[in-house]
Amino acid sequence: MMDIKLDPSRDDLPLMANTNHILVKHYVLDLDVDFECQVIEGTIVLFFEDGNRLKQWSRSCKETCQMESNEACTLRTPEPCHIPVTNARSSSSKMGYNNFAICGKGDKDISDKDGNHDNQEQASGISISKYSCDTENHGREEFLLVLDCCDLSVLKVEEVDVAAVPGIEKFTRSPKLTVISEELRNEMVHELVTLPADHWREQLDYFARCSQAPSCGELIFDTDTWSLRIRKTGAQTATDFPHAIRIWYKTKPEGRSVTWTSDQCGRPCVYTMGSPINNRALFPCQEPPVAMSTWQATIRAAASFVVLMSGENFAKPTLLQEGCLSWHYYVTMPMPASTFTIAVGCWTEVKPEADSPSDLEAERSLPPSETDFRYIDVCSHMEYPCRFQCASAITQEIIPHRVFAPVCLKDACQETLLPLIPLCLSAAHSVLGTHPFSRLDILIVPANFPSLGMASPHIIFLSQSTLTGMSHLCGTRLCHEIAHAWFGLAIGARDWTEEWLSEGFATHLEDVIWAEAQQLSHHEAHEHQELRACLRWHRLQDELQNSSEEMQVLRPRKEKTGHVSDSGASVVKHGLNPEKTFMQVHYLKGYFLLRFLARTLGDETYFSFLRKFVHMFHGQLILSQTFLEMLLENIPEEKRQELSIENIFQDWLESPRIPKVPYVHCSRRVCGKNQWVTASKKPFLGHVELCGNADLELLFPSLSVLCFAENSRFGGPPRLKGCRSALAQAGAVTKWIRVNRRPRKRKRGEPEEVFEKLLPDQLILLLEHLLQQKTLNLRTLQSLQRTYNLHKQDAEVRHRWCELVIKHKYSKAYKHVERFLQEDQAMGVYLYGELMVNENARQQQLAHKCFALTKEQMDRSSAEVVAEMLF
Ligand SMILES: [Zn+2]
Repeated sequence: MMDIKLDPSRDDLPLMANTNHILVKHYVLDLDVDFECQVIEGTIVLFFEDGNRLKQWSRSCKETCQMESNEACTLRTPEPCHIPVTNARSSSSKMGYNNFAICGKGDKDISDKDGNHDNQEQASGISISKYSCDTENHGREEFLLVLDCCDLSVLKVEEVDVAAVPGIEKFTRSPKLTVISEELRNEMVHELVTLPADHWREQLDYFARCSQAPSCGELIFDTDTWSLRIRKTGAQTATDFPHAIRIWYKTKPEGRSVTWTSDQCGRPCVYTMGSPINNRALFPCQEPPVAMSTWQATIRAAASFVVLMSGENFAKPTLLQEGCLSWHYYVTMPMPASTFTIAVGCWTEVKPEADSPSDLEAERSLPPSETDFRYIDVCSHMEYPCRFQCASAITQEIIPHRVFAPVCLKDACQETLLPLIPLCLSAAHSVLGTHPFSRLDILIVPANFPSLGMASPHIIFLSQSTLTGMSHLCGTRLCHEIAHAWFGLAIGARDWTEEWLSEGFATHLEDVIWAEAQQLSHHEAHEHQELRACLRWHRLQDELQNSSEEMQVLRPRKEKTGHVSDSGASVVKHGLNPEKTFMQVHYLKGYFLLRFLARTLGDETYFSFLRKFVHMFHGQLILSQTFLEMLLENIPEEKRQELSIENIFQDWLESPRIPKVPYVHCSRRVCGKNQWVTASKKPFLGHVELCGNADLELLFPSLSVLCFAENSRFGGPPRLKGCRSALAQAGAVTKWIRVNRRPRKRKRGEPEEVFEKLLPDQLILLLEHLLQQKTLNLRTLQSLQRTYNLHKQDAEVRHRWCELVIKHKYSKAYKHVERFLQEDQAMGVYLYGELMVNENARQQQLAHKCFALTKEQMDRSSAEVVAEMLF
């Protein structure tokens, strides 16, 4: 049935679910977490809406919202199709037949061929002959439900008898349930999944009750590498297929969705880590983002564990029996299943040292109640209890939040992280408006977490690396993850290939939100942003030089972006390429595009547009053109210049590299004309020609901004003071190069160099400049380290410091490299390469030693990359 050919030699990620035929509306998970066996086991119940109903929904949607935006309608209206699927097996039913686990009973050589199922025991009771009779004698095909699923042991699939739930008859037209038919059950499920938003509590409650209803028959299933396929004898269309099914399954320790490891205090824990395969090794699901659903989950674990999850409630555990706790979470906002996150570990909640202000507690006890929704506004998304419609939610600057961490990192969290959260949340609110989510948990994840942070609904993972140094790295990263609540979660990419839609936005917004959180003046914020732009420019150039052109394209599928097959299946371009995990090109190119657009429009216009955009598209999925079209429509003619979707696609999204120069305001010093680069005929390329190979430092005036002012708000971290030219000549770079050139001893009477304190970003820039020097003597390195206390700076600064140490074989500081490789694993991979490339025995020894210490718990793909460098 797949009309997409998968070439195993390619790195594209397949999404198999036939979402055009049937859509999951709600998941109920009921799971036990077993740390001894490293297995999560239990059931998942899926509630569906079929293509027929979808068609009706899309029709009514089109009528109601056509005026506002066509895009909004087409987003969640897959071409309705409930024609029986012709599957690949039809031509050779015997072969396909053999693939079915059910037929493999007692037939060892075909069972578990791909290691994906072991349902032989459960297979009894389903008649093989009946199945074969239906397909062969009548020659009819049965409807096939395809779920995305990988590395799960599926034990049993059954139809849920929702009609057995007391009270369910209110969801039917017939008051007395005399004849229970499939049709009636499906009608009940339909009524349940389409209850109006203000009935969400009742809806959740019935979902939960239905999930526990008895089975009314097992379903036939088989699995392959990427999917779980389910059919019911005699059910030929999605409409006939049961709309509530229960899958009994367990995870496999090697499944790539969850990481079993230990925390910084040595205690066991497990978490989802944003794998490229998302959650399909955690539960069978419909992966395509178009399948937006709600969920609830009951998770049981030993009493020493805390269960954190994407749920809108602050779950309070209930004691089941001696030593076992049960946690229940739910969401009422439909989101792609890939955004679901869970973490289970022995973490403690970190609270402010002093007694917390009581208003925080008060806030926490204020979940939006049903009466709170006053429907003051109309949204374009499918119905759910939306915060944008809730008067008290709209004005809530700081949403209730908690922090969890291993107990050994409690102090660091209290010092660095806790004070930042309210500042960043309220800054995000002032930049973007209503928080899309009602609450937030922040977890300090184990050392092997492969990135600095990850955002999921209601939960943010932060790496311990953000807790070192001053508040700068922690603040910017926190702002980045908070920004994902709007871009990435509330507004998702319809096609994951367009990753820049979440990462580019979050990267661009992190500076703006962080500046707001620090209450920088307009001028200071600008200086700061220029500095960040500069750093990213360096990084991007580096990455563009060291990656294949193919990987640099943000919209490789061009006009096919967002297209799916008839069934709804698709592939994510390069979704499985291991290289991609270590690339930032989507973050950086996306960021530079948005920065360019914001500059072209002016910040004020751009951000007021952005709030308007959020208002229009929250709760929905978008493509690049969704954003660009609305943007261009909203720009006054005179500001639009020659911007068009076509040239933005061409110059930014569909070609490798980046338009030649970063659309900065061309300063007079560069070209004698104080005007926007875009002002000339060809956007982006205009003045570049005039400027030729203008020095980057001239294009980024703030490169020379190396002065600071004390910022009392965060207990001392310096921040930029707006005097970009004053210290231009006396830049630290020049000073250090001078120091390095000086003969061993200072001449009598010669003044000692005085170095001013630098911001972390300034330090990074300084170190990156020094990294370009062929030689730096050990004396200079020592003095550099002492002057800035480099080993105590944040992880970004220390990373550059380690690079310098390795490059110049400064063995006295090897301990800093060693520490970095253990404590900052999310950023350490690159340093292994540097250690190996010098062909220096001692450095290679160091690399091997550090790898030996961490490889057991290291993130799997990082470990593979490092092993390749080392052996
Ligand atoms: Zn809404």
